[in-house]
Amino acid sequence: PGSGYEEILRKLYNGITELGFYTKAELKMAVKQIKEEPTSATINRLLALQAGIREHKQSLLKSLSQVKEEDGYALWREQESKDLSDLVQRRIQFLQNPEDCSTAKKLICNLNKGCGFGCQLHHAVYCFLVAYGTQRTLILKSKGWRYHKGGWEEVFKPVSETCLSPEGDSLANWPGKPDTQVLVLPIIDSLLPPRSPYLPPAVPADLAPRLARLHGHPLSWWVGQFLKYLLRPQATISDLLKNTADKLGFKGPIVGVHIRRTDKVGTEAAFHPLDEYMPAVAEWFDQQIANGKTIDKRRVFLASDDPKVISEARTRFPDYEILGDPDIAKTAAIGTRYSDTSLYGIIIDIHFLSRCDFLVCTFSSQVCRVAYEIMQSLHVDASASFRSLDDIYYYGGQNAHNWKVAQSHVAKRKEEIDLKVGDSIAVAGNHWDGYSRGKNRRTGMQGLYPSFKVEDRVEAVKFPTYPEVPL
Ligand code: GDP
Repeated sequence: PGSGYEEILRKLYNGITELGFYTKAELKMAVKQIKEEPTSATINRLLALQAGIREHKQSLLKSLSQVKEEDGYALWREQESKDLSDLVQRRIQFLQNPEDCSTAKKLICNLNKGCGFGCQLHHAVYCFLVAYGTQRTLILKSKGWRYHKGGWEEVFKPVSETCLSPEGDSLANWPGKPDTQVLVLPIIDSLLPPRSPYLPPAVPADLAPRLARLHGHPLSWWVGQFLKYLLRPQATISDLLKNTADKLGFKGPIVGVHIRRTDKVGTEAAFHPLDEYMPAVAEWFDQQIANGKTIDKRRVFLASDDPKVISEARTRFPDYEILGDPDIAKTAAIGTRYSDTSLYGIIIDIHFLSRCDFLVCTFSSQVCRVAYEIMQSLHVDASASFRSLDDIYYYGGQNAHNWKVAQSHVAKRKEEIDLKVGDSIAVAGNHWDGYSRGKNRRTGMQGLYPSFKVEDRVEAVKFPTYPEVPL
């Protein structure tokens, strides 16, 4: 191990022990004070406790980041991450470029699902996952696309160099028969049971052990690989992104904030004021400073479909450098949304959100989930580099997914439920206050439980292993 490794492990042990001493003693004092004099002295004591815990937490997180720096695995992580990505990209290339397009098995996917760009990208990825799982070349139909009539290929590289024709000897709607040459896949919402096993949260079993070791959330990594392939830009788009980076002065350290408003608010998500996003941004920068990093400027890339929020942020948070373009936000409104200008705007916003060091957003929005997924293809493991103000990560239309109880729990209030090690939990959401809500499949009980006691697990499913592609 690295020279400071053992020292940091001891520091972590001490830090956790100290945190225990500190909170125990302070809580004892607080309880005593509440009994004696329920006055402002009690409140002050609790506020001091809160500040004290924050400092302990920063110090522990610093030690933890040092563990990673000192453990000597940095090169291995980088190499493993690159190897896995290269392998998946080669397999996709192989699948998408059959030697004879006239006899190749194909899966037709209509890009133009009646929804926004993030939703359509997820639709395309869903098709791609089924294509990969069934070893059919993905044919992406996009003429008359609501965002760009000329179609996908005028914006991004075509999904194949050798096989774009949807023609074949036999054609059927999904699921068809294994020997039907061309299958047409419906949108995920219309899939009838038995649904495909290749839908999220499935991750290929042949990659799952390596992914689980390397990455904190293999599913978003896996999805990110398909976005990496799909979003290879045509020259006009790469020029646009380069010019925008210069114009914005985009550079790290930077936090990406996505604020989804307009048509989403009150229908699919709640309104969240800027004051909910900015404390999470501040906390990230504070931790960087605690970790010993130099922060020349607190930079934020702010994307929204509401132009007012960008000027509001600039006025109300003058200590931050707010990068973002209100003119882009203007094109995102529902009336102008399905146009070239709007498309370029959302491509720019997703691109730069994904290039940030940390994301603060609402995972109810597909814009932010896409940015998060792309982010996973740009780092070894950025699975923890986000703060969602509402949902936990999910893939729209995903197959049922259960989390596993790692530590038992006895309900302490009527809102809570009991947990036994090994129970399966259908998670409804994280309240981001230490508790999550879910249903215990064993007992049928629904309610709150401490989030840390239940763990997500990798859903390893047998996919084709593409032996033709060298490992
Ligand atoms: P969701 O509705 O938020 O889940 O995401 P979708 O991507 O499916 O649909 C929302 C659409 O609104 C996007 O595709 C954009 O066209 C537009 N939009 C939403 N937020 C932004 C933003 O921050 N920037 C830009 N440029 N457009 C946005």
